[in-house]
Amino acid sequence: MWKIIFIVELLVNACIAFTGFYIISKIIHSTHFSSSTTTSVIIGLATGLLGVLLMFKGIQVNESLRMDLRHLPLVLLAFYGNRFPLVIATLIIGGSRFLFGITPQAFVAFVAIIAISTGMVYIHRKLFNRPFRQNLSLNIWALLMITFAVLINLGFTDASLRLLLATWTIGLAVGVLSSLLTLDFQMLNRQVELYKQSAERDHLTGLYNRRVWDTRTAGLEQEGRIYNVLALDIDHFKHVNDTYGHGNGDLVLKQFANILMEETRPHDVTARIGGEEFMILVYDLAPSKVNKVANRIRERIANERFQLDGFPAITVTTSIGIAHGKHVHIQQMNVLADEALYTAKQQGRNRTILFDQADQQDIAASHSSTETTT
Ligand code: GH3
Ligand code: MG
Ligand code: MG
Repeated sequence: MWKIIFIVELLVNACIAFTGFYIISKIIHSTHFSSSTTTSVIIGLATGLLGVLLMFKGIQVNESLRMDLRHLPLVLLAFYGNRFPLVIATLIIGGSRFLFGITPQAFVAFVAIIAISTGMVYIHRKLFNRPFRQNLSLNIWALLMITFAVLINLGFTDASLRLLLATWTIGLAVGVLSSLLTLDFQMLNRQVELYKQSAERDHLTGLYNRRVWDTRTAGLEQEGRIYNVLALDIDHFKHVNDTYGHGNGDLVLKQFANILMEETRPHDVTARIGGEEFMILVYDLAPSKVNKVANRIRERIANERFQLDGFPAITVTTSIGIAHGKHVHIQQMNVLADEALYTAKQQGRNRTILFDQADQQDIAASHSSTETTT
């Protein structure tokens, strides 16, 4: 009879643990929180509370001994390698055991929880590349510590053996099953990330592709913010391909893209639109400021030594057309930027031309010194 009650209560514990794991895994993979410290604290608190809930819903074996699956949330955190949340959750779960009385048994349980978490950090590190073996070891380690604690608290009796048998069976089954779910969850998330990456990024340069450019710029005119579209095209790039080969042309494109990434801010949208044509969306900058940014990029490129395979490093230049506007449809801004780029090419390349949509004429052109076109 006792055995059945143990099993039923431990199964209730297992159901709570599963529900909790689902929620905690969601938080772990969430990108909603502003900083990683906030996420860590939330994960630690959620896991700690889950452990406490499991304790409250566990078996009161006698006045001072409790049995439950409170170690499982810690196994989950150790498996994910989330150390800071693991420390928080361990202290919450270990400390909460004293809510059921400050007794020697509670002290043993506290020490057992600390030993479980400390050992698990070591196991996680040792078996980092073997997820299944790692998880099995984490669960066995935790159950071994629980076994020691029960034997110290209850002695080597029939009751303690029955209790341990039920705990090992259910604890191991739930622990391993949840680890399989966790692995699936992790794999799924990784795959989604990979697919997202290949759908959004240009495979050669790693910059956003045209599709992202189109979706991120759609509806900009309704936002009512000032924005700038920069169109860049490498000068005489055909010559690079013809002289040094297509492979070296690709190397130049990659280094060119790296410079664009370094010279723009994370919230600018930098995309490779076609062969050696790039677009950058820059919010909120006034014409003089955006012109400065564009010239900084242009000069950085002109001064860079592009490394080639089998040839000495070369230099390349770029022309840049800028459209500046507000409440203007993106297609019109793209056309304006392209026209400005065309003008820059016409005027001799390696220069920056800006068209301000407000007066529909170029107000700035520069190549070392500032030129003005009409
Ligand atoms: P301009 O100064 O007028 O821009 O001269 P250009 O030679 O750069 O002329 P254009 O922009 O028309 O040349 C684009 C060249 O870029 C032609 C094409 O062979 C090359 N290209 C396009 N995509 C790739 C690519 O993925 N890799 C390499 N290596 N070259 C590419
Ligand atoms: Mg081109
Ligand atoms: Mg070109």
